[in-house]
Amino acid sequence: MKARSAVAIFLLVASFVALAQQQVDDRRRFFDENEVTSDDPRRIPRPNVPRGPEGSVVLTGGRLFDGTGDRARPATLVLERNKVRAVLEPGREDWPADATVIDASGHTVLPGLIDLHTHLDYSDADVPIVHAVNPTHATLRGVERLRYFIESGITSVRDTGSKYDIPFRLKDWVSANRIPGPRVFAAGQLITATGGHGAEGLTEHSQIYGEIREASGPDDWREAVREQFKNGADFIKLASHFSKDEIKAAIEEAHALGIRVTVDAETFYIDWAVEAGVDCVEHPLPRTQETIDMMAARGVHAVPTLTTYSYIFDRSGGYHGSTSRRFSFSKEANLDVLRRMRVAGIKQGIGTDLVFDGFRFLPGAYVTELEWFVKAGYTNTEALVAATKTGAEILDMDDKLGTLEPGKLADVLVVEGNPVENLRNLENVRIVIRDGYLVVRDGRLYIPRHIPVPEPTAREN
Ligand SMILES: [Zn+2]
Repeated sequence: MKARSAVAIFLLVASFVALAQQQVDDRRRFFDENEVTSDDPRRIPRPNVPRGPEGSVVLTGGRLFDGTGDRARPATLVLERNKVRAVLEPGREDWPADATVIDASGHTVLPGLIDLHTHLDYSDADVPIVHAVNPTHATLRGVERLRYFIESGITSVRDTGSKYDIPFRLKDWVSANRIPGPRVFAAGQLITATGGHGAEGLTEHSQIYGEIREASGPDDWREAVREQFKNGADFIKLASHFSKDEIKAAIEEAHALGIRVTVDAETFYIDWAVEAGVDCVEHPLPRTQETIDMMAARGVHAVPTLTTYSYIFDRSGGYHGSTSRRFSFSKEANLDVLRRMRVAGIKQGIGTDLVFDGFRFLPGAYVTELEWFVKAGYTNTEALVAATKTGAEILDMDDKLGTLEPGKLADVLVVEGNPVENLRNLENVRIVIRDGYLVVRDGRLYIPRHIPVPEPTAREN
């Protein structure tokens, strides 16, 4: 008995050591608590200067769903600059006298939604190849999609693969308030082996057009990770196929750099990725119960993206012509994967993966993904938590985003009605606040006039 428990303890310790080697080297452990760092997983030190618009905004009279999983309740939300300042009981009015007060009666106030799987600059459907591959066209596609997301109450997107450095520049411009949109957390180019997912044949999706980085051998996979980090990656996106050595090298490199790794993989490639320490698995692609149990045991997250696959099955009758999808699957099988991952206790977030014209289905497409979660056994409240708090956890941003609690960043959505009762009420977007800025008012994008800079005057001498 004693010997057996000693063996058990040894195995437990050994598995913790194994896990520790696979964890992200979280840069937060090197900072004291007052250090101010960038509002992304890169955590780069920056000066402690006020951010966001001057003054306070108060949303009062409404119902607050704070994202923690607590019931929606009557409450007043007080924002100051780009942070949540306070959550007040109804009736209290101790906010700054010069605050902008907004009546949210009949509305629900909730954390800005998070879409964990986007491709901001992938080609539209039916675009001539000359435009599809053009970086200028690609950038403008990104600008247009950012508008659709923010108008839908989505205040953060996780870009899981885009062309060149375009998603990083979109991120900079949104963050500086130069174009409207959600916060962008970007992986850069998708990394895969020669001819892997996304690089199947010389199609418009091949690396020659900028969105795929084909890598060969562990050293090159490592180098491909460094290239994305150099460009500004907040996380790394890998795709099968790969060798065990290749995926291990890429994950080790990303984790040393302090960023997480997600993977688009299927069947045994998921096992290899999980064994190598991957942080998240995208899509509902086939996997065994053993794989699901291993994901759960190791705390691996999932972004199942059922909506985009249901569109594929509805429109095309199947996923055809791809060497990276050589298996049978269906809408029912995908739902079964989601259901079994929920039962296993895997943390799952909302990602739409809206490609081609898919973004034009927003905001409905995002709600459809929540409804898939409900079909898999989530309550409406749990689905809304997946869309907010869990999304922030998967982004490695839960210290700053995902819930409406004092000190968090001011990303807020106000919808008419109560989405806890009917998720479709999420489509009734009235107000969206990102980083303290009111970016959607009365259901439409609000762009303030630019403030003219005085013209130069002639020097007197
Ligand atoms: Zn995708």
